[in-house]
Amino acid sequence: MYRKTAQNSELDQLISLLSKVPGFGPRSARRAVLHMIKKKDALMKPLAGSLADVAEHVHPCTICGNLDTSDPCHICQSAEEGRRDNSVICVIEDVADLWALERAGSFRGLYHVLGGTLSALDGIGPEDLSIAGLIERAMDDKVSEVIIATNATVDGQTTAHYITDRLKGCGVSVSRLAHGVPVGGELDYLDDGTLTTALNSRQPF
Ligand SMILES: [Zn+2]
Repeated sequence: MYRKTAQNSELDQLISLLSKVPGFGPRSARRAVLHMIKKKDALMKPLAGSLADVAEHVHPCTICGNLDTSDPCHICQSAEEGRRDNSVICVIEDVADLWALERAGSFRGLYHVLGGTLSALDGIGPEDLSIAGLIERAMDDKVSEVIIATNATVDGQTTAHYITDRLKGCGVSVSRLAHGVPVGGELDYLDDGTLTTALNSRQPF
């Protein structure tokens, strides 16, 4: 009988799970699994331990939505300890965007992870994103500026306009990323210099 993937159910299960990871398909999952089995001690066992560890200990920050082992996350904690600027909140779609901005190293304020963008097509409305939490944070007297750093996609820009409207009356100035972000571009794919230029040349909405 023809067997579609590997020799037994454990391997099939692993390959099938791995092929659901973004960037993997069934073929690359099979290759990755074979590679890991060959590097069992150097790669597979540490990876299994690391996966279990992250699954157990990493959670979204209840303030900003960043992923961390502590809650509040280390960025929110740094602000409480005066080591980051707590007057500016940068709004991003996803934790990957937060990581990109932190890699660039040019932003020392706080973040707010939306958890996606508004999308009529996918039926994602304001209540599906952490917009209410952002409004609440923006009402805090300490906060004077909100930078909207959603992606330069149609949904990203629609979301930026919606948030700008909602922030009216919160007593904050609203700005967004300017030069550098290509139309249709996603933050996670930008190089550090482009991202920094975009952040530094942000303009009022
Ligand atoms: Zn946080």
